Amino acid sequence: MDKPTIALACPTMDLTPFIRDVPDFPKPGIIFKDITPLLGNHQALSYAVELIAKAHRGKGITKVVGIESRGFIIAPPVALAIGAGFVPIRKPGKLPWKAIREGYNLEYGNDAVEIHEDSVTDQDVVLMIDDVLATGGTMEAAVKLVRRVGGKVIGTAFLIDLAFLGGGTRIDSPVFSVMRYT
Ligand code: AMP
Repeated sequence: MDKPTIALACPTMDLTPFIRDVPDFPKPGIIFKDITPLLGNHQALSYAVELIAKAHRGKGITKVVGIESRGFIIAPPVALAIGAGFVPIRKPGKLPWKAIREGYNLEYGNDAVEIHEDSVTDQDVVLMIDDVLATGGTMEAAVKLVRRVGGKVIGTAFLIDLAFLGGGTRIDSPVFSVMRYT
């Protein structure tokens, strides 16, 4: 069976007007990159999904892993577009089945992510997706989780790389981003 594709709504498109900067959200000093204008526009959404899909087709990817919560929005359409399954990585205590956990440090305090232990196997070739790459701590922990269950991580993809924060240096797998803020 041919792998499904999502048609490009537009051959080239500047997506930056669809990202809204929200100062001091969720706390003072953070400029939050709000992707909801992009999600709400069919051309922008299909273009962003197709850019990620196009860069990863033909690599034998069997699972696209999305990180809670906005990675859950982007990863499933990419998975469908490249003919792969979708696997969620969630915050602690949310997954119903047997899960393994990986902790990581935040600027203030700690956090952790979990994956079902049987959701990825050593037969899987994996693309990891989140909406924003900031310090890289979340994706670094997520990549470790997938490797612990045996998955071969061949790349990570984001809508937005806040490259001035240097998060990409913490990820020892290729980093693809639709938009890069330097
Ligand atoms: P980090 O672990 O620092 O790379 O942070 C990445 C996670 O935090 C992602 O799941 C993002 O959704 C979220 N995040 C971090 N910084 C921002 C930001 N400025 N705007 C929107 N989301 C952000």
